[in-house]
Amino acid sequence: MATDKQSAEKEYTVEEKLSALYQLQTMMTEIDKIKTLRGELPLEVQDLEDEIAGLETRLQNYQSDIKDFETSVVEQKNKISDSTSLIEKYKSQLDNVRNNREFDNLSKEIEFQGLEIEFSEKKIREFSEAITLKKEEIAGLSEKLEGRKADLVQKKGELEQIVSETKQDEEKLREKAKKLEAAIEPRLLTAFKRIRKGARNGLAVVYIQRDACGGCFNKIPPQKQMDIKLRKKIIVCEYCGRIMIDPELAGVEE
Ligand SMILES: [Zn+2]
Repeated sequence: MATDKQSAEKEYTVEEKLSALYQLQTMMTEIDKIKTLRGELPLEVQDLEDEIAGLETRLQNYQSDIKDFETSVVEQKNKISDSTSLIEKYKSQLDNVRNNREFDNLSKEIEFQGLEIEFSEKKIREFSEAITLKKEEIAGLSEKLEGRKADLVQKKGELEQIVSETKQDEEKLREKAKKLEAAIEPRLLTAFKRIRKGARNGLAVVYIQRDACGGCFNKIPPQKQMDIKLRKKIIVCEYCGRIMIDPELAGVEE
């Protein structure tokens, strides 16, 4: 009777080895899925953070637009008061004109300053309307920003929870995989890891699906399929190098 580990391992049949490899493959695939899930969630959080940053920048721009408009209003008001004092000055000069030419010149200046005032008043109305519009846009943006910030708090909470939950799942799977690995002979385990590393989808052990390799989907000749069903030899796909098993061993009904 075998007592040490080395000889105990040697007692495994090919079928048992294949079964263990397939179980290990299943666990590894699940770990891969968990990793993908954890990789995508931070991206969602990142997208939200980017959107919030964008909204905040727009808000700041709108606020600085309003400041510019307000400055312009002040400038126009100053112009109006300048023109008003000029008009008053010209009007007082009108009382002391010496000839018609002076009278005409002063009248023209008064008229011109009057037009200047009208122009400034028009500008002030335009700037004020623009300020009102910007303020409405700011109100809308602020509301949207608050909503996104609340979304972010929720998403971050979800992310933390999922990360901690999946970490636990992953650790459990890794423990199980470790136990299983101990029962697989090192040479076979190394081969399994090497094939897995080289495969895009991380599959090193696949079962036959519709007469084809479940990894690369190349057709497998009937004789080879028979050999695979017999479970007496470890058979790899000649196209992709993956270890092939029959669906029944994988627990799949075809
Ligand atoms: Zn293949």
